[in-house]
Amino acid sequence: MDNCIFCRIASGEIPSKKVYEDDLAIAFYDLEPQAPVHVLIVPKKHYDNITMLDDDALTAHLFKVASTVAEKLGVKHGFRLVINTGKDGGQSVNHLHIHLLGGRELQWPPG
Ligand code: AMP
Repeated sequence: MDNCIFCRIASGEIPSKKVYEDDLAIAFYDLEPQAPVHVLIVPKKHYDNITMLDDDALTAHLFKVASTVAEKLGVKHGFRLVINTGKDGGQSVNHLHIHLLGGRELQWPPG
């Protein structure tokens, strides 16, 4: 999608601080980190949000990537994955992404 910031990051048109990339997904540091480790795992194909994701293999792949990234960044002992969805879910970028947060003790409930 031409106007989608994460599509443009995925295509390399907009630079990002990349930590992982393969044919299907990219992971890069969040611009406004909420934890010492805050990475976004993003499918290269555009889906507005998780409710649009209709590809089981890609779904599994994204979680596998999250685990790989957690290990790579040294937070495998404890981290959180978050998928904000829709307006009430706090989603601000309408391209499906998984937040990976770690590197500090995370509170629950998130508020
Ligand atoms: P959400 O609010 O769940 O849709 O998350 C969107 C996230 O994308 C926010 O945490 C933003 O800080 C982050 N973000 C927006 N633009 C960029 C960008 N160009 N590079 C990295 N992270 C971004």
